[in-house]
Amino acid sequence: MREIVHIQGGQCGNQIGAKFWEVICDEHGIGADGTYIGDSDLQLERVNVYYNEANGGRYVPRAVLMDLEPGTMDSVRSGPYGQIFRPDNFVFGQTGAGNNWAKGHYTEGAELIDSVMDVVRKEAESCDCLQGFQVAHSLGGGTGSGMGTLLISKIREEYPDRMMLTFSVVPSPKVSDTVVEPYNATLSVHQLVENADECVVLDNEALYDICFRTLKLTNPTFGDLNHLISAVMSGITCCLRFPGQLNADLRKLAVNLVPFPRLHFFMVGFAPLTSRGAQQYRALSVPEITAQMWDAKNMMCAADPRHGRYLTASALYRGRMSTKEVDEQLLNVQNKNSAYFVEWIPNNVKSSVCDIPPKGLKMSATFVGNTTAIQEMFKRVSEAFTSMFRRKAFLHWYTGEGMDEMEFTEAESNMNDLVSEYQQYQDATVDDDGDYDEDEDGAY
Ligand code: GDP
Repeated sequence: MREIVHIQGGQCGNQIGAKFWEVICDEHGIGADGTYIGDSDLQLERVNVYYNEANGGRYVPRAVLMDLEPGTMDSVRSGPYGQIFRPDNFVFGQTGAGNNWAKGHYTEGAELIDSVMDVVRKEAESCDCLQGFQVAHSLGGGTGSGMGTLLISKIREEYPDRMMLTFSVVPSPKVSDTVVEPYNATLSVHQLVENADECVVLDNEALYDICFRTLKLTNPTFGDLNHLISAVMSGITCCLRFPGQLNADLRKLAVNLVPFPRLHFFMVGFAPLTSRGAQQYRALSVPEITAQMWDAKNMMCAADPRHGRYLTASALYRGRMSTKEVDEQLLNVQNKNSAYFVEWIPNNVKSSVCDIPPKGLKMSATFVGNTTAIQEMFKRVSEAFTSMFRRKAFLHWYTGEGMDEMEFTEAESNMNDLVSEYQQYQDATVDDDGDYDEDEDGAY
């Protein structure tokens, strides 16, 4: 068995994490009390990836919940699947992080981190063959962001050869709590570049736009955004949870998608998009969901793939369908859009089909792309960071917790370097010698 330990931190992390567990419990036929009420052997075949088996045949999520204040975790506990979690795995403080990354990473969070690591270690030690960890958090606040990245670095220290996947929610002024979110996000990206292996970017800006423009929700709530997030989290982990070949574990996912270690931030999409509670009235076909899943409007990161090039991509289909048709449709997309795929990674689009569709749909597809266009999102955050940092606005909240201004400067340049690296690979071509040229204009 190749187990994953799941960790969710802060308000956003706990909210999207709770949703994730609701969705996957349903898919695996696990009731709110942990008992199996499903109807297919496939549901249990790889259930151990995410669940421990407790006495009495109950399935318990291998999940650790952390926060610096009790509120969100209290509502998870009293929510629909609140009783399924192991009570000892709730670790929380009382002070809060006040949307301050420094409090999460260096002061309040640092005080609580050892108790979290104790629970993580306990879960890791009871695994047969741990494949890695996944962390659900936001980058814009203080706990999920500051303490989340502290936890990631501690885990990396203790388990250097295990995989680290993150589901990271990027802040947007369209759905914002506070003005310092670009600071918190940049300080987090600085950590994620070094300490995570794969990051699924969930950009509140794009999620808001999908709700508003495509789903016609005039006033999207976190519940609406999280509905989209849970669809993607379920779609991406589908190949880890059910039997199959492609991307069957976290390492294989990384091997296919990450050509350079720092460039591990994924743009994701889902088709068909539906709003909470809405039914899909039309039966969809493979060509339709394929077209939708590659559409810029369906991407959950505010960056247009047509402004960059795909280094790699995976298309994860669910439901009963012809794999031949899937292959044909994907080849068709690549042939028609060849300029948007780097030609120096041949066969850089992979696909898989899992028989079991998500709840309420006959078929769906989840898209995971490693595109150089994602630099647009980093640039947006970086510009907001720089305009405040230039005047040292709000810096005293961070230095007051003992942080050095230097760390801000380093985080800023690390993110700018990342943007340049994306640009460099966007421009790279294969010349006649098979060497990589800097430019396509023939100047080399
Ligand atoms: P923390 O508790 O200190 O980690 O802070 P939060 O998780 O509240 O972080 C604030 C950031 O997360 C802001 O960018 C919010 O817009 C975003 N956020 C908070 N809750 C949610 C949520 O449930 N869903 C989504 N998509 N974003 C959230």
